[in-house]
Amino acid sequence: MSETTTAQATCWCCGNEFAERDLVRLGSHPEVGVCFQCARFLRRRAAEREDQQRVSAAARLRAAVRTSRAWVITHGWHRLPLVGPILRRIDRHLP
Ligand SMILES: [Zn+2]
Repeated sequence: MSETTTAQATCWCCGNEFAERDLVRLGSHPEVGVCFQCARFLRRRAAEREDQQRVSAAARLRAAVRTSRAWVITHGWHRLPLVGPILRRIDRHLP
């Protein structure tokens, strides 16, 4: 009888435990892994910084979307059945 164990690793961003398959490792520092949710968060932060450095019409549009998103979350509307999935969809597709 074989026992299968799933190794757990800690996300270096949020500190939660995840299965190895649910982490993304850094190229030059494979000891560092972040979960998918934190990877999306870091992507969003990087895009925000990039937009601040190179202002364009698209950057202003993304900033407006980010501001709206933050406003919705501040009011707790992201927990509503329809709004939450829409915000997650925007997160996945916002350049
Ligand atoms: Zn995380």
